Amino acid sequence: MSSVQTKSDVILIGAGIMSATMGSLLKELAPEWKIKVFEKLNSAGKESSNEWNNAGTGHAALCELNYTTEKPDGTIDCTKAINVNEQFQVSKQYWSYLVEQKRISNAGDFIMPIPHMSMVQGEKNVDFLKKRLEALSTNPLFQGMAFSDDPDVLRQWMPLMMEGRDRNEAIAASKIDGGTDVNFGALTRMLFNHLTGQKGVQINYRHSVEDFTRTKDGLWEVKVRNEERNTIEYHQAKFVFIGGGGGSLPLLQKTGIKESKNIGGFPVSGLFLSCKNKEVVERHHAKVYGKAKVGAPPMSVPHLDTRYMNGEKALLFGPFAGFSPKFLKAGSNLDLMGSVKPSNVFTMLAAGAKEIPLTKYLISQVMLSHEKRMNDLREFVPTAKSEDWEVVVAGQRVQVIKDTEMGGKGTLQFGTEVVTAEDGSIAALLGASPGASTAVQVMIEIFKRCFPEQIADWEPKLKEMVPSYGLMLSDHPELFDEIKEKTDRVLGLTVAEQNQAVQ
Ligand SMILES: Cc1cc2nc3c(=O)[nH]c(=O)nc-3n(C[C@H](O)[C@H](O)[C@H](O)COP(=O)(O)OP(=O)(O)OC[C@H]3O[C@@H](n4cnc5c(N)ncnc54)[C@H](O)[C@@H]3O)c2cc1C
Repeated sequence: MSSVQTKSDVILIGAGIMSATMGSLLKELAPEWKIKVFEKLNSAGKESSNEWNNAGTGHAALCELNYTTEKPDGTIDCTKAINVNEQFQVSKQYWSYLVEQKRISNAGDFIMPIPHMSMVQGEKNVDFLKKRLEALSTNPLFQGMAFSDDPDVLRQWMPLMMEGRDRNEAIAASKIDGGTDVNFGALTRMLFNHLTGQKGVQINYRHSVEDFTRTKDGLWEVKVRNEERNTIEYHQAKFVFIGGGGGSLPLLQKTGIKESKNIGGFPVSGLFLSCKNKEVVERHHAKVYGKAKVGAPPMSVPHLDTRYMNGEKALLFGPFAGFSPKFLKAGSNLDLMGSVKPSNVFTMLAAGAKEIPLTKYLISQVMLSHEKRMNDLREFVPTAKSEDWEVVVAGQRVQVIKDTEMGGKGTLQFGTEVVTAEDGSIAALLGASPGASTAVQVMIEIFKRCFPEQIADWEPKLKEMVPSYGLMLSDHPELFDEIKEKTDRVLGLTVAEQNQAVQ
C-alpha cells in the first residue's frame, strides 16, 4: 500500500455524462484550472449514461405525458413540461457550441432527429391528449405538434402500431417532428476524449473513491483506491463534484455534510425488450410514449423507441422495472443495506410504510414472464411476435427518498436532485429523470451555487456557449426561432436531415 498526495482545483468523481458535462464546461470557463477525474471502471460512459442503459430520449416534454398533469378543474398544468423543454434547449445550444468549436466531431454520432409521439387509448385519455396539445400549443417551444384520432392518419404516422387494430378502438396520438434520440454513451465518450487531451486535466480509470476528509485549510481530501495496483492514494481539491450516478448517495453520506442527512435511495433497475427482427425495426420511425398504468410510478411510462446506436437502427420497448439491491449495474448486493444509516433510518422506514403500492408494483414487475411482457408490448404493437423480441438489462436508477414539506417524512422523489454543501465546496447529483437531457442546465445551477465569486465573470462565456443564458425562451419566441434554426442546422436536426434519417 502506498499513498500519493496531489492538489487540484476540481475533482470529478465518475465518468458519466454529468462529470463529462461539468468537466467540459469548466475547461471552457476556467481553462487554467487543474481537474482530476476518478472513475472506478476502465472507461467512460459505462453505467447509466451508456446507450444500452437508458432510453436515449432527448427529454423535451414533446411526448412524455407525465410532465403534464390534469388539475382537479380539468385544466392542464404545463409548468414541468415547459421547464424540461427549456432545459433541453440549453443542452442543445451547448452541444452545438461544442460541435462548432470542434471540441467534439460528428453530431450525427450522438444525436439524431426522430418524431416524438404520444399515444393514448380510451375516450378519457383521448380527451386528455387533446387538452394537453391545446394547452401546450400557446407556447413557442411546442409549435408544430399535431393531434389525430383518425385511423388513416395514425396508420401513416405509426404503421407498425396500427396494424391489427380494430378500427373502432378509441385511440389518438400527437406528433411533433422536432424530437431527438440522443446517444448519451457516445456523447460521454466524445467529451472524455476531448478532455483527455486538455492541459491540466488528468483522467484516472480504475480508481474508486472511498472516503473524504476536510483539511484544516478547507480543502477536500479524497481517499482513492487505485484498483490496478491495489494502493490507496489521497488527492486534495478546492471543489469536488460527486457524479457517481447510483454510486453518488453512499459517497455523499461519507462526506458527513449536514445536507447529506435524512436522504436515502431506492434502486429500481430497468429492462427493455429489444427487437431482433430487422424488418420490424425498419417499419417504425418514432419515439412513442404512452400513459403510465393507474398506480404505476412515472418511470414506468411505456414507450416504443426507434434508437440509433453506433450506426445501427434499433427498436426498444419498455421500461419494465426490476429489483436489485445494487446502486450501480456493476455495484454490490450490499449497496441498499449499506446506505441505511442512523441519520436516514427513519426517513427510509417512513418511505417503506408509504410506498407499499410501489413495492407491490415492483414485485408484480419482477414476476413478469416473457409472454406477459409481450402482452404489454402488444398494446403498442398488436402483431408483435414473441420470437422477435429479447430482454436487455438497462441501468439502475436510484430514486431519492427524503423528507419534504409537501410529502412529509420519507417521500420518494422521481426527479434529479442536486445536493450542495452550504459553503459550495462539494456537490452531488442524485436521482434520475429527466437526467442526462438536462445535464447542462444542472451544471449551470451548480456553478451558481458553488462558484458565486466566478459566475459573473463567466457570464460572457456562458452566453457565447448558451445564447439564451439567463432567459426563458418561452418568453422570447424570436430568439427561440433564431436559436432553434442554428442548433438544428449544426446538430443535423433539420427536416431535410430528418427525411434522410428515415431512408
Ligand atoms: C432505464 C433508464 C432509462 C433512462 N432514460 C433516459 C432518457 O431517455 N433520457 C435521459 O435524458 N435520461 C435517461 N435516464 C437517466 C440518465 O441515464 C442518467 O441521468 C445519466 O446517465 C446519469 O449520468 P451520471 O453521469 O450521473 O451517472 P452514470 O452514467 O451512472 O456515471 C456514474 C459513474 O460514476 C462511477 N462511480 C460510481 N461510484 C464511484 C466511485 N466510488 N468511485 C469512482 N467512480 C464511481 C460509475 O462507475 C459510473 O461510471 C435513464 C436512466 C435509466 C436507468
